Amino acid sequence: MRTIEVNATRRYEVHVGNGLLEQTGALAAPLIRGRRGVIVSDSRVFPLYGDRLATSLTAAGFSVCSYVFPEGEASKNTQTLVSLLNFLANEQITRSDALFALGGGVTGDLTGLAAATYQRGMACVQVPTTLLAAVDASVGGKTAVNLDAGKNLMGAFFQPYLVVCDPTLTQTLPPEVFADGCAEVIKYGMIASDQLLGRLRGPLVGEVLEAVIADCIAIKRDLVTRDEFDTGERQLLNFGHTVGHAIERCSNFGISHGSAVAIGMAVITRACVAEGRCERGCASLLLELLARFGLPDRCEYTPQELLEAARSDKKRSGERITLVLPERPGRCVLESCDYPTLLSMLEKGGAV
Ligand code: NAD
Repeated sequence: MRTIEVNATRRYEVHVGNGLLEQTGALAAPLIRGRRGVIVSDSRVFPLYGDRLATSLTAAGFSVCSYVFPEGEASKNTQTLVSLLNFLANEQITRSDALFALGGGVTGDLTGLAAATYQRGMACVQVPTTLLAAVDASVGGKTAVNLDAGKNLMGAFFQPYLVVCDPTLTQTLPPEVFADGCAEVIKYGMIASDQLLGRLRGPLVGEVLEAVIADCIAIKRDLVTRDEFDTGERQLLNFGHTVGHAIERCSNFGISHGSAVAIGMAVITRACVAEGRCERGCASLLLELLARFGLPDRCEYTPQELLEAARSDKKRSGERITLVLPERPGRCVLESCDYPTLLSMLEKGGAV
């Protein structure tokens, strides 16, 4: 087991280890005052792992109940959130009790926001089951649901009390969902660690997967510790995301987040090579890794279409945008630019 300590508004531990699911109850019990544990999970994950988590919580002295919602991003909305809050109230859950988010980023974001708001805040334990949730969504305290107007527009910064990551749970992921997580793993390597990029040259299984997840979380921990509320350095985590979000919107979310981020990283890196900002080898390494994990590096949208989609992002402010630009493998920088500059990069980066 590897343990990473996060020192944010709340201090908490992230445990990463093959087979840890069964220890969730024992790890959580000393941190929670109440003895009610609510498992929040989706309709695909709960039948796979719900019983094992419930058994672990019961053995540690929790009385367990479960809230299960239909799987998928479409459930990450205010209706599910309110339904979950009403469930907690009807079950007479108090703020000394704990929510256990068993699932991917959708479950983690929804449960985190419920924990942030129910009775003004209660404990949340993240138990990620996708690679993306393991390396990204479960750590750092960003919680949210989507509004009709856009993704993640309603949310709160609310750090979990504990994260228990058992990489073996990712074995049941559909290959394309695992690949989505690989895009984020490659992102961590590109922004902060050429050593991590080196590890990605072999198969991502067993001990290697455990080590890679721990490496990613340590990188995120460092950024969250220095910039918890995402006003500066934490934005490095958005490498590939400005273009990626534009691609997701152009495809009406038909292209998955991971694939879109993969293309976004490739476009920006090729543009940086074309502008002489980074060495050619940086792009070839990135493209090699994307191909290795079956991720795309181009899409069918024109630079102009992507620019319009980027401009329509509800979370942008003003006429400038912060881009994450690679300098070399393992190092990126933040740069504020205007929209004509973004358009020029989209053209040079060869999105299509
Ligand atoms: P997800 O939670 O929808 O999971 C993807 C699919 O995999 C779902 O169908 C789910 O049922 C299934 N699944 C999950 N674990 C499984 C397992 N072990 N075996 C079989 N099937 C399994 O999506 P995701 O890709 O994990 O997360 C995407 C969400 O995360 C988005 O809503 C995004 O906004 C959010 N996110 C949040 C943060 C953050 O910092 N809070 C960071 C990145 C992404």
